[in-house]
Amino acid sequence: MGNSCSGLKEKLGQRLRPSPTLNFIRSILIPKKKKDFCVVVLGSAGVGKSALVQRWVNSCYSDKYVPPAPMADVIYHVPDGFFGSGTKMRITDLPGGQLYPALQCLKIARGHAFILVYSVTEKQTLEELTPFYELIREIKGGNLYKYPIVLVGNKCDEVRRELTTLDGAAYALKWNCGFFETSAKKNVNVEELFFELLTQEREPDTTPQPTPVKSQMPNIAEDVLAVCVPC
Ligand code: GDP
Ligand code: MG
Repeated sequence: MGNSCSGLKEKLGQRLRPSPTLNFIRSILIPKKKKDFCVVVLGSAGVGKSALVQRWVNSCYSDKYVPPAPMADVIYHVPDGFFGSGTKMRITDLPGGQLYPALQCLKIARGHAFILVYSVTEKQTLEELTPFYELIREIKGGNLYKYPIVLVGNKCDEVRRELTTLDGAAYALKWNCGFFETSAKKNVNVEELFFELLTQEREPDTTPQPTPVKSQMPNIAEDVLAVCVPC
């Protein structure tokens, strides 16, 4: 009984298995779906994550606080020179806190690059990035070259600061990751930040040592050009 069952199963399996010729024709005729380049933005509420994404994608800035939409990714069409044509950058602007731990893990698992944002006006927001960094390391392992992380001190336009550039740079050294001070408001270093991630992804990941992304260490770079249309 057992033997005849397994024989029947084997025959059925052979019938249902597509032939090598069919597989070959499929691989030529059906174009493979291009993978999006997924960037995950993490940090405490109010540090300017959404403002940075808005500035990069739509080249605009609003002083209004936008409540987080946890399931909504922002899509940015990557210029052709980076990964060939048609690649999209999928940016997940993850709300901080313990509200959506399962969602955070899922998005981190799918992420190709990570932006950890704090505000230079609030010391606590830099300290609050440690659990995010540890979660990324836990989920992705130690290969920062393959999955680059960039630390970002936003609101560098503000005169009232609780953190110096060196404070951020010290964290970046400890975490062996890239570092920028940015201003979504004044459009400082936003383009540099995202282009850096795109450039990292384009390079082959055959280097033996994980390399931190080339970045602002510790000097603040000058203003950059605006990217696209106003809000
Ligand atoms: P998120 O919760 O991290 O997404 O923070 P938002 O992007 O919603 O920004 C929170 C507040 O910070 C808003 O009132 C923004 O206008 C303000 N903000 C964001 N980026 C900057 C910046 O670069 N400079 C200054 N001065 N304020 C900013
Ligand atoms: Mg937000």
